[in-house]
Amino acid sequence: MEKLKILEFPDKRLRRVSESIGVFDQKLKKLSDNMLMIMYKERGVGLAAPQVNKPVRLIVMDISEDRNEPLVFVNPVVSTYEGKVESNEGCLSVPDIKTDIKRHETITLNAQDLEGTAISLEADGLLSICIQHEIDHLDGKLFIDYISDIKLQRLRKKVAKQNKAARIERQKNTRLI
Ligand code: ZN
Repeated sequence: MEKLKILEFPDKRLRRVSESIGVFDQKLKKLSDNMLMIMYKERGVGLAAPQVNKPVRLIVMDISEDRNEPLVFVNPVVSTYEGKVESNEGCLSVPDIKTDIKRHETITLNAQDLEGTAISLEADGLLSICIQHEIDHLDGKLFIDYISDIKLQRLRKKVAKQNKAARIERQKNTRLI
């Protein structure tokens, strides 16, 4: 199986607009299996194909506690949205950064499954937020685009400081052993 690697901000390939999928073959099924595998391994809730350098409109997710209810959506589109909700988000492509942003509360999703069959569902809570986050990836958008540059700089500085402290702590521990 092809080994996928998650692209990380500020990689420009995360900014591409992904292409619609018209062929529902084994290759697509393999890509979605592969994406689910890496998502579970990295303990992510969702993953979009462009994050693994495949600029096609495919997203996978699992919002269940037991991590055994994979969801796959091809060519996902939000057709209606209602309400606003505050959402604390992170992203496998933006390591360590977490921030509150605003999302739509309830959405209607239209998509296709891996066979090309149409799916329509209403979502709220984490499912709604995750779908919105992953569709943003398909349009080259990241959750940090919703906050100001100044706030992003501040968050990145904080993370750099924490990482440095963690490194020093690890070195200290190494010497003790
Ligand atoms: Zn993400």
